[in-house]
Amino acid sequence: FLPHLVASMEDVEETYIMIKPDGVQRGLVGEIITRFEKKGFKLTGLKLFQCPTELAQEHYKDLQSKPFFPKLINYITSGPVVCMAWEGVGVVASARKLIGATNPLNAEPGTIRGDLAVQTGSNYTVDSQDSMLIPFGRNVVHGSDSPENGKREIALWFKQGEVCQWTPAQEPWLTE
Ligand code: UDP
Ligand code: MG
Repeated sequence: FLPHLVASMEDVEETYIMIKPDGVQRGLVGEIITRFEKKGFKLTGLKLFQCPTELAQEHYKDLQSKPFFPKLINYITSGPVVCMAWEGVGVVASARKLIGATNPLNAEPGTIRGDLAVQTGSNYTVDSQDSMLIPFGRNVVHGSDSPENGKREIALWFKQGEVCQWTPAQEPWLTE
C-alpha cells in the first residue's frame, strides 16, 4: 500500500480543450473527442460555438505581445470551435501529451497534432522575442497548460450551468 500514490479529490483537475476552426471544418470533431473519451477522462462540458473576437483575445491574453497574435485571433474566430471541459487526476498534463507539440511538424505520431495536422510552410512569421523562424499554422486543438489556466479557461468559455457534475458508469473500471 503506497499512500503517496493514492489520488485524493484535490488531485482532480479540470482542463479546457477546444477543437479549433480547422478541426471542425475538416470533420475531425468525432475523432478528437474519441481520443479523450477512450483515454478515460470525464467530459463535463461540450458545445459548438462561434467565438467573438474579445473572448479570443482574453483567452490568449498571455500571447498579446507576440507578432503572430493578430493571426491567432483571426484563426480562432474564423469559424465555429468545439469547447470542452474534461476532468480527472492529472488531466491537464495528460491532455497536453495526447495533443502533442504546438507545431504539428514536431508533434510525435500518436498525438492528435502529430496524426492529424501538418505544417504547410505558408504564413511564416518571425517571433522577435525568440529570434526564431516561427511557422504560423493550423494545429486543430487547444489544451490548457496548467490546472489554474484550466479553471480560468473553463470559466471564460462556459456559462453557469453548462458544466455538468456526473459519475460515469465506467468509473469503478478505471480506478480502484
Ligand atoms: N502559435 C503559432 N506559432 C507559434 C506559437 C503559437 O501558430 O509560434 C499558435 C498555435 O495555434 C498555438 C497557439 O498559437 O496553438 C497558442 O500558442 P501556445 O504557445 O500557447 O501553444 P499551445 O499551448 O497551443 O501548444
Ligand atoms: Mg497554450
